[in-house]
Amino acid sequence: MPQLVTLYPVMKSFLSLACLLALTALSAFAQNPDGKLRILAIGAHPDDCDIKFGGTAAKFAKLGHHVKFLSVTNGDAGHQDIGGGPLAVRRFKETQESARRLGIEEYEVLPNHDGELMPTLEIRKEIIRRIRQWNADIVIAPRTNDYHPDHRYTGVLVQDAAFMVIVPNIASDTPALRKNPVFLYYSDHFQRPNPFRPDIAVSIDDVWEQKVNALDAQDSQFYEWLPWTVGKSDEVPTDPKARREWLAKTRFGSITPAVRESLERLYGKERASKVQHAESFELCEYGQQPTMEELKAMFPFFK
Ligand SMILES: [Zn+2]
Repeated sequence: MPQLVTLYPVMKSFLSLACLLALTALSAFAQNPDGKLRILAIGAHPDDCDIKFGGTAAKFAKLGHHVKFLSVTNGDAGHQDIGGGPLAVRRFKETQESARRLGIEEYEVLPNHDGELMPTLEIRKEIIRRIRQWNADIVIAPRTNDYHPDHRYTGVLVQDAAFMVIVPNIASDTPALRKNPVFLYYSDHFQRPNPFRPDIAVSIDDVWEQKVNALDAQDSQFYEWLPWTVGKSDEVPTDPKARREWLAKTRFGSITPAVRESLERLYGKERASKVQHAESFELCEYGQQPTMEELKAMFPFFK
């Protein structure tokens, strides 16, 4: 017994160590006391995050992680018949319904005009503040070689904020982060100067209906504006059920060979071959640099 008593503190610390290790690599990235990740997805328009990250966001939210979407413009140019304030109001309501359907905590829309975004110091500071206020572990944004200037400059704004979020003298009214978040890019199909690299690819088959439902909430975009831009307004069914089915069929392309390869690396060949719908992300060179194993651990979906 005396030995056991002597050993007790040692055993206790071994047990604590084992418990700590058992909490998985995930908690190593979560700064929040509840051990859950805090994820901030940033898009240029009030549907960008939903399109690129909606499925993965729903999966994170189901596991209790904290997910926020932030649109840097208010989307007030994204329609053929209406514009300005009334469109911004309509689109804001759509974002709130989309957030509700995805189960995420917040969808914020900044009051910058759609189609006129510039990477100014003022907006950079707003982005720095939002990343700090969310105490983000992960920040996701577009790459800077996108076709749309708002997407491109959103990418620039987030890149420009990536280091500054830990600099206390910048935007000093909002306390700086002590730990730099991991920054990721959404997928895209642009090839120059370099193609998107899917470091992480997530099967969203289990939340596919939920993602389509969230996009369905943004009817000004998916049933009105976007079909109009490609001359396909006539193809959109009027019946709500039929147009939702049309949206699920027409809006999304097939999985690229690069994404399929990434799925195979993460899920194994057999499981990857069955995946129908996926979202993928590239690690940005700025911010915290996890190893591929650590990055994989941040997305707890591959077991
Ligand atoms: Zn957009």
